[in-house]
Amino acid sequence: MYRKSYRAWFECISGCGTTYPLNEVVYRCGKCGDLLEVRHDIEALKQKSPTYWAELFDQRYKGNEWPYGSAVWGKKEMVCPNVANENVVSMYEGGSNVFWADRLGHEIGVEDLWVKQCGNSHTGSFKDLGMTVLVSMVRQMRAEGKNIPAVACASTGDTSAALAAYCAAAGIPAIVFLPRGKVSIPQLIQPLANGAITFALDTDFDGCMKIVQEITAKENIYLANSMNSLRIEGQKTISIELVQQFEWEVPDWVIIPGGNLGNVSALGNGFLLMKELGMISKLPRVCCAQAENANPLYLSYLKEFMHFQPVTAKKTLASAIQIGNPVSIKKAIRVLRAMNGVVEQASEEEIADACARADRTGLFTCPHTGVALAALFKLVARGIIKPDERVIVISTAHGLKFTDFKLKYHQNQLEGITPRLANLPIELPADFNAVRDRCLKEIERVSK
Ligand SMILES: *Cc1c(COP(=O)(O)O)cnc(C)c1O
Ligand SMILES: [Zn+2]
Repeated sequence: MYRKSYRAWFECISGCGTTYPLNEVVYRCGKCGDLLEVRHDIEALKQKSPTYWAELFDQRYKGNEWPYGSAVWGKKEMVCPNVANENVVSMYEGGSNVFWADRLGHEIGVEDLWVKQCGNSHTGSFKDLGMTVLVSMVRQMRAEGKNIPAVACASTGDTSAALAAYCAAAGIPAIVFLPRGKVSIPQLIQPLANGAITFALDTDFDGCMKIVQEITAKENIYLANSMNSLRIEGQKTISIELVQQFEWEVPDWVIIPGGNLGNVSALGNGFLLMKELGMISKLPRVCCAQAENANPLYLSYLKEFMHFQPVTAKKTLASAIQIGNPVSIKKAIRVLRAMNGVVEQASEEEIADACARADRTGLFTCPHTGVALAALFKLVARGIIKPDERVIVISTAHGLKFTDFKLKYHQNQLEGITPRLANLPIELPADFNAVRDRCLKEIERVSK
């Protein structure tokens, strides 16, 4: 079934034509210094019909044939055909539920609203989708005899958790650089538990990024940040899987939170690839949602992407996107232009509010998903998203990684935020009558 003839390689995004094999340790173009992206032999993929690919992917989906049951590796020919199956490091990525946000949609006036639960995964964020590809390629290179003693990343929390887990599963040393005091306790404990060499540096994410780039440039340590475009290839399966889950029907809108902007680029690439192969006949519109406190893409969007100016990111509840100088800026602008995309921003209060509203309808949202939901509310209110359009919101992490934020919301401890939907335990003595009376009163209250 699997043919070795499918090929992929690194190519400079500037169009200068420089290419490298995927098993070379390289992150930037040697000629012009621009970022690299993974390119596929489209002609080889086009030898098969769109129906062939759809049926093959459906047949593998969540099955048990190694490694194709993983929804990333189930699309291996379009992701990373260069890795031998025995070197794949997989934890059955993807295949996450699309939650039908029936009640929330009804509240805001969109009847066909869905939330793609990418945080329901091994380490609790979509970062697993890309990390499985990157760490598999490292294992392949090590098997080929390349000297790669370790893999490193800078992280706002979720990338390091994914890197640590995949490296631990493969027996490869992992090094993570975190901004001290800026990641949640669950995010900090994940790499520690998985045995990663963990540095907490007195800086922000952008500062950690600078250090990891210097270290990986001078030692043989492999860089796992999303400027390494292998990760984009895995993340791009989000869009393929989304369409697959709707029987290969394309939604009208996809809303996704963005920080370093690798994920929105990946999402766009997935749709553009499917279109090129004839698997879909139209493209959805994409909204990249940013926190107002870390909004360089939004500011550039206001100027029709003619200028881009990095910002110093301010503190935001959406800590994983507190990034002022996104590495994938060019890639993101390219896909947003190709897909008639928009950029929206959300204030801290809008983020907290959106999370609380969504949670009341059965979700358990992380603050980044809150950024995307807040953007959704605004686009619907402005009439840009129409009531009958199918909208998919990408949820990027599991809410359980951000319980501190949620608890503080309900305890009214978030500065500058009025918790309109706070819900706290009712403290009563263990007395039957008192409990019954209060119980009946509360049922009446919540049933209104
Ligand atoms: C990494 C991350 C993002 C942002 O993705 P980028 O590719 O950096 O734009 C959003 N939400 C969560 C939970 C993340 O971990
Ligand atoms: Zn180049």
